Amino acid sequence: MTVWLLGDQLHPGVTPLQSTDHVLLVEAYQFAERRRYHPQKLTLVFSAMRHFRDDLCDRGYDVTYLRAETFGDALDRYFEANPADDLVAMRSPSHGADEWRQRLVRERGGTLTLVENDLFLTSPAAFDAWAGVDGSDEGDSGEPDADDETTFRQEDWYRHVRRETGILMAGAEPVGGAWNYDEENRETPPPEWSPPEVPRFEPDEKTREVQAFVADRYGDHWGDPNGFRWPVTREAALQALDHFVSVRLPEFGAYQDAMRGGEWALCHSLLSAAMNLGLLRPREVVDPAVEAYESGDAPLNSVEGFVRQVIGWREFMRHVYRRSMPELASANQLGQTASLPPLYWDGETEMRCLSEAVEHVHDRGYAHHIERLMVLSNFALIYGVDPAELNEWFHLGFVDAYHWVTTPNVVGMGSFGTDVLSSKPYAASANYIDKMSDYCADCPYAKSKTTGENACPFNALYWDFLKRNEETLRGTGRMGLMYAHVDRKDDAEWRAIRERADDLRSAAAEGEL
Ligand code: FAD
Repeated sequence: MTVWLLGDQLHPGVTPLQSTDHVLLVEAYQFAERRRYHPQKLTLVFSAMRHFRDDLCDRGYDVTYLRAETFGDALDRYFEANPADDLVAMRSPSHGADEWRQRLVRERGGTLTLVENDLFLTSPAAFDAWAGVDGSDEGDSGEPDADDETTFRQEDWYRHVRRETGILMAGAEPVGGAWNYDEENRETPPPEWSPPEVPRFEPDEKTREVQAFVADRYGDHWGDPNGFRWPVTREAALQALDHFVSVRLPEFGAYQDAMRGGEWALCHSLLSAAMNLGLLRPREVVDPAVEAYESGDAPLNSVEGFVRQVIGWREFMRHVYRRSMPELASANQLGQTASLPPLYWDGETEMRCLSEAVEHVHDRGYAHHIERLMVLSNFALIYGVDPAELNEWFHLGFVDAYHWVTTPNVVGMGSFGTDVLSSKPYAASANYIDKMSDYCADCPYAKSKTTGENACPFNALYWDFLKRNEETLRGTGRMGLMYAHVDRKDDAEWRAIRERADDLRSAAAEGEL
């Protein structure tokens, strides 16, 4: 029996590795051409696979490592050498991937047995049991935001996971007495604050070899191939985790939603790429954070905020994706059809927030959560971009992007293509950007103007978005207050807003925003 591990299953502790010492890993080059993936993403995956291969060999495993154009080609070679072999594989979180792999193996005379993917904290069965019993309310004595069904649903799952695992629990009660500390987690840093350092993992020889290969084979992909800094081994990922917990976690909570000009990382963990590759398991990431709280090295608002992202949001997204595919990928309840404006590719815009966020993605394949949600997808949402097209951009542009995690975040949360995981769109005007960042102060666009020359594009597009989608949105979630503002505007204001929004769309489409 041989374990076939995918490039995002690179953990020596996974169950199938405990019962055999034969391993199959495949680098499939055409697969990496399906979209113009960021060169740093391709470097990351191939380099992490090669390092993992060598690590397994050092541990005494017999590894077959195949480089091929396609998975099919690799399996042809594999089964020629090992006729009718029985393969075992962990399930992939990506929709359809398991059936496809089973077919490939069957066609070549082998068998593929699928087992649970234990790189996630919670199993499909656990989520389904929870959702089947009651997907919305467990009668908590905590403090759910009852106005917001989204938070309520995710929040409820999160509480369930905490109860089941005992993470940050004191008996039946949440540690500290509250389930979340969002109120403390919306600060912006004072001007004199400077963000803690961020570790940098310089490419070793193996990574440099991959970089050269990626540059040669995928030279036309979008994104800067230079400046690669991501951990590609479990050892480096553990160092990154350790550094985060001791250096940035203490302020993670307070500045979780903040943005600041010239700063790309702030106090975020930068661990998503390592986690999504399987280099780190969720529990390994969460336990040291909780220990930091217990030893008094990090405050509860930071630790709880971080824990929620990992055992709440990340697991939730995985299961929502699983349960909502294939419809989720093409969901477009608002009927948005615009193409992504060129600024998403060249970063050419006078809008400071957008140009910085695009630059961050281009340079490192990373932007933090608030840039993703409240700048990059918020703008696309109110501009009217087709969610599937935006999903493609996110999927190819980020080092941590995989269909299972990008799709619910972009199509569901960011684009409101469906209400399966959010009951209202994350749409906001310049007000929000200004509150959470220092971008607006020296942006040529005026944050407080909606129409007229140099009015911030976020404003007219925001109001126009609400007006255009009134039929779907007016009665939704917490949109009542927004529509009270909509109702206060007279016809002349709406004409000016529509005109400004149309002009902005034309300018953006021409690359002149
Ligand atoms: P931190 O801010 O330090 O958060 C800690 C961890 O929590 C992350 O490493 C991640 O594992 C987890 N997490 C937090 N929020 C989410 C979430 N909504 N979904 C899944 N995991 C979460 N995350 C990805 O891993 N891959 C993606 O392709 C991706 N695309 C996104 C697209 C959009 C439009 C939005 C709004 C969010 C997206 N996210 C994605 C979720 C989140 O933004 C990233 O996980 C996070 O920014 C990664 O940076 P970090 O490791 O510094 O995270």
